[in-house]
Amino acid sequence: MERVNQMVKPVVAIVGRPNVGKSTIFNRIVGERISIVEDVPGVTRDRIYSTGEWLNNEFNIIDTGGIDLGDEPFLEQIRQQAEIAIDEADVIVFLTSGREGVTTADEEVAKILYRSKKPVVLAVNKVDNPEMKSQIYDFYALGFGEPFPISGAHGIGLGDMLDAVVGHFPDAESEEYDEDVIKFSLIGRPNVGKSSLVNALLGEDRVIVSDIAGTTRDAIDSPYEYEDQEYVIIDTAGMRKKGKVYETTEKYSVLRALRAIERSDVVLVVLNAEEGIREQDKHIAGYAHEAGRAVIIVVNKWDAIEKDEKTMKEFEEKIRSHFLFLSYAPVVFLSAKTKKRVHTLLPVINQVSENHSMRVQSSVLNDVIMDAVAMNPTPTDKGKRLRIYYATQVAVKPPTFVVFVNEPELMHFSYERFLENRIREAFDFEGTPIRILSRARK
Ligand code: GDP
Ligand code: GDP
Repeated sequence: MERVNQMVKPVVAIVGRPNVGKSTIFNRIVGERISIVEDVPGVTRDRIYSTGEWLNNEFNIIDTGGIDLGDEPFLEQIRQQAEIAIDEADVIVFLTSGREGVTTADEEVAKILYRSKKPVVLAVNKVDNPEMKSQIYDFYALGFGEPFPISGAHGIGLGDMLDAVVGHFPDAESEEYDEDVIKFSLIGRPNVGKSSLVNALLGEDRVIVSDIAGTTRDAIDSPYEYEDQEYVIIDTAGMRKKGKVYETTEKYSVLRALRAIERSDVVLVVLNAEEGIREQDKHIAGYAHEAGRAVIIVVNKWDAIEKDEKTMKEFEEKIRSHFLFLSYAPVVFLSAKTKKRVHTLLPVINQVSENHSMRVQSSVLNDVIMDAVAMNPTPTDKGKRLRIYYATQVAVKPPTFVVFVNEPELMHFSYERFLENRIREAFDFEGTPIRILSRARK
């Protein structure tokens, strides 16, 4: 059975001074991707981090220009954005503009990139017509070899540039950990208690960051074992502040969180009981959902608030109304500080991880679907009725179902929702998103 989304995708970062066209190129590459949760209130798309695809190579792409570094002076901002690209990317697209030619700011970026060992693809944007191509020769002086003339506005030259980018991708990174290791990450705003919770889980007084032989990444994960189950807490180091200025900015911490989510099976969205729910919590949780990861909502600092017998129920209702798209996610209340109820977390992680990779029998699945259709007739459009022939599970992590129909366009969002609910009633998919795809039966 196919496992979707489990490959560690290469990361491409676009750097360059303001106005060279970074966001234009970013949007071109990302394209008109339809997001599954776009209709869901409260979920905002991140404009600096998305996925792209070229010649069957999927990758993540970052527009470093979208990381606002506050009051830093102009050149310092550009420098830091280049540093971020070096820290986060496998391949860097260094964008310049043929209209303005090589500027001092371009040379500054070049100096920083030159010191890194990451592959750099130099592109000269705004080369809108063939006559302008002669202007690219000056850019050889930046020291990154042949510049690629492109026009973001007209979509010219992007193919050649992406060929070069893809050519620098590292060999398909195989799974970093064994299949049966549960990889999870703790995601949430600063000070909600992520590090404290990691410590409580590991039973140590400080976060252990161990070197794992053979991994190509920085040693940022914390592997451990409990009752014969192996776990890895992903990107534990990302939770510590390392001192670089940009690490304290919100966009950067979101970016770090998104990368940790990519590498996880299970995402713990950690909330602070004292502070309630914020926009950023929803944004990150929405991303975990879209990425198809299992999700648990953890309410920490439960010791710190006044409670009566209704408090937990009321808090959960508040969560449900804010995270409509996460109706499947279990909520765990605990205190990392007093360790109260911390022991309830691992069994939930085990359960949702199991659900996330659960496969159901086709015959049982089809019984459920046919019962559903009998109960609630399929939608019609212009006198034509949706016909469902059969369904089958095609992937796990997350469980993904293909429903074979006469005409996929007749499958309405609301009917898909209905089928999802019936599937959830029949099988225990608590904690995991599930996907339903309609395909025409040939
Ligand atoms: P960023 O600051 O680097 O992200 O740059 P933007 O993507 O915001 O683009 C800056 C300006 O350049 C905008 O007005 C774009 O419309 C324009 N621009 C982007 N790409 C091209 C291009 O290929 N040709 C021309 N002529 N203008 C472009
Ligand atoms: P992080 O930034 O999310 O990693 O948060 P930390 O783990 O560094 O915790 C931030 C602050 O919250 C620290 O002062 C912790 O002692 C405190 N804290 C963490 N967990 C709890 C908890 O369960 N209850 C209370 N009252 N305080 C906590």
